Order: sequence, then C-alpha cells, then structure tokens
Amino acid sequence: MNAWTGMPAKKTIPMNKHPNIKKRIALELFRSIKRNRAKIHELHTLFWECTLRCNMSCRHCGSDCPASPAVPDMPVEDFLKVIDGITPYVEPGKVLVLFTGGEALVREDIEECGLELCRRGYPWGVVTNGYLMTRERLDSLLASGLRTATISLDGLEEAHNWLRRDPRSFERAVDALCMLAEEKEIAWDVVTCVNQRNFKELMLFKDFLIEMGVKRWRLFATFPIGRAAGERDLWLTNEQFTWVMNFIRFCRKEGKMHVSYSCEGFLGNYEAEVRDSIFQCDAGIHTASIRADGAISGCPGIRADFHQGNIYKEDFIDAWDHAFKPYRDRRWARKGECADCKMFRYCEGNCMRLRDDGGNLLACHYKRLVDK
Ligand code: SF4
Ligand code: SF4
Repeated sequence: MNAWTGMPAKKTIPMNKHPNIKKRIALELFRSIKRNRAKIHELHTLFWECTLRCNMSCRHCGSDCPASPAVPDMPVEDFLKVIDGITPYVEPGKVLVLFTGGEALVREDIEECGLELCRRGYPWGVVTNGYLMTRERLDSLLASGLRTATISLDGLEEAHNWLRRDPRSFERAVDALCMLAEEKEIAWDVVTCVNQRNFKELMLFKDFLIEMGVKRWRLFATFPIGRAAGERDLWLTNEQFTWVMNFIRFCRKEGKMHVSYSCEGFLGNYEAEVRDSIFQCDAGIHTASIRADGAISGCPGIRADFHQGNIYKEDFIDAWDHAFKPYRDRRWARKGECADCKMFRYCEGNCMRLRDDGGNLLACHYKRLVDK
C-alpha cells in the first residue's frame, strides 16, 4: 500500500518518463486532427463570467476576485445581444453556455438569462462553489432549463474549509451534491484542486464521492497565478504531481467513477490515460469566454494580453473568426523553456492560462513529470 495515496503498491509504479513509441504514434495522428480543428474552430463552449462578485475568498482562486469588484455585473441583455449575434452562425443545441464568476449564483437573474437561452435553443450550465445552492434555488434553476452543473469540492471537511476559508463551505457544497445526486435529467460533476492539504486523503475522498453518488470527478493542480501565487504551500512537488497522475490512472482502471485530470497541460506518457483524449488547449478553438467587462477571451482566467476584443466594441463572431490567430497558431509560444523542447509539436506551449502577460510560460506539466 502506498503511504501517500493508499493505492495498492503494484498499481503505483511510475510510467516511463517520455512518451513511448505507441504514444508517439497516437500523438502524431492527433496533430492533424488538432490542426483541422483549429482551422474550423467550431464553437462548443461559451463561458460567461457573469460576475466578479464572490461569497468566498479561496486561497487558490485564479481570478483573484474581490467581494465588491470595480467591474459591475454585465446586464443580461448585453450578454443576450452576443448570443443573438452568434445564433445565425452556430447550431445553438451544440453550444453549451456556462455561467461562471466570481460565484455565478450570487446573481439572482441567472434564471432569467437561462430561460432566454433555452428559448433560443442553447443548453446552459453553472460552475459554482455550491454555497448558495439551496433546494429552492436548484428548483428555480431547473425550471429555467439548467442542464449542467459543476461543484467545486476540494477534499474532506478540514481541507476544503481551509482552502475556502469558510467553516461552512464543505457542508454547503455537500448539500448541493446531495441534491444534484437526486436529479436524473442534468449532467453534473465535481472539480477538485489538489494541493498539499488534500493530497494524502485523495483515496478516502474518492470513496466519499462515490458514496455521495458522484459519477464524474475532475482534478487539477494549483499553479502560481492569481491568489495562489502567494500560497506556496498549495503547490504540489513534482513527485506528488506524478502520483496524482498515477492515482487518476488507477481510478480510471478501477472504473467506479469517471475520473480525469482537467484539460490543462500536456502530460507526456500519461496522455490519453488520465483524460478521455489527447491534450489540446481548446481555448480559441472550441472554447470562448466573455469576461465581466465584456472582453472576449478564449477561456476564463486567461490574461488580458490574450483578449481578442470586447463585446462593447466588436462583433463577437467577427472576433471569433478573425482575431484568434494567437490561439490557433501557437508558433509564437516556442520561446523560453519551450524553444528547444522536443514535445512542442504535441504540446504547443501548454495551457493558455499558464502564460503571463508577456506570453512567457508559467508552468510546464510535462517537465514536472519528467524532472521529478
Ligand atoms: S486555457 Fe487551459 S484550461 Fe483553458 S481550455 Fe486551454 S488548456 Fe484548458
Ligand atoms: S517546455 Fe513548453 S512545449 Fe515543452 S512540454 Fe513544457 S510547455 Fe510544452
């Protein structure tokens, strides 16, 4: 039994450091799929950062959003104008609109917007810390057409409350999970930020989630951006990060719940083993976001230097079709650590969120796995 994760020892033998020949063939084949996807850039997911207000002050928050932000909430009608501009160019049923924040549920007019999205044929969902998900609120969201929900739960009670800096946050998030577990009509999952405080209890936490009726669980690691930049103790060591990959691989083989690592980061020999597909940063290719101030971006959390216009000045679909070259052609990212990296042809410079204002790389998942 491994002392860190509780996994059977034989299941935790680390993989080869670099992609083996079989993996290389798969990566090569996927390159042409990626190129084609970038060329077509079909929009699949549109995030709306509907507020920067938040009811928590989490230690790892990538948005670093204050309780009373300088940027006011965007009116629903402004967002719907964007939707109406997009509608002639997409199949609404194939574009998932996700409300994010801040904390999306602090807005009381989510339902109003959701109903309008339904009327236009768009599925929609919410990413939330679950604190405000009462029975009444969930009923109201469901009555407005809610189709997906993601709840953030960062470990068992002590670890979660520590990260969220709120003694009731675990209880409230778990209440939300209990309610969602009874709903058969919507797709929902749990997302967990793995850090020093919850790392050693991952196996126990997994069993807890299964017990709660959770069917899908996504994990991600903390990187030095936003509020987490000042919280060094949140970052995993390279060795721990590698064990997280082994843990996910073990859970996937175990098959009791769908477990995956989040989309961020090229993972070398773990590619296609800890997620359903090979790494591609979908930002600007299948994923776009509208920030609270109207900025058009590829994915929530990407820095201002990668914004591609603003809905208050530009037409969204025009920006989507013509302004996203830095997302679709990543040759510019071949600098610094990436300049002579043999994996660049598959990785293309990693997750766009992990680039600073100057486009410099903040973290390389692959190197964490091979340098341990
Ligand atoms: S920017 Fe990162 S989190 Fe966003 S789609 Fe790309 S890989 Fe995923
Ligand atoms: S150095 Fe750059 S290209 Fe190479 S694996 Fe890391 S992020 Fe990807």
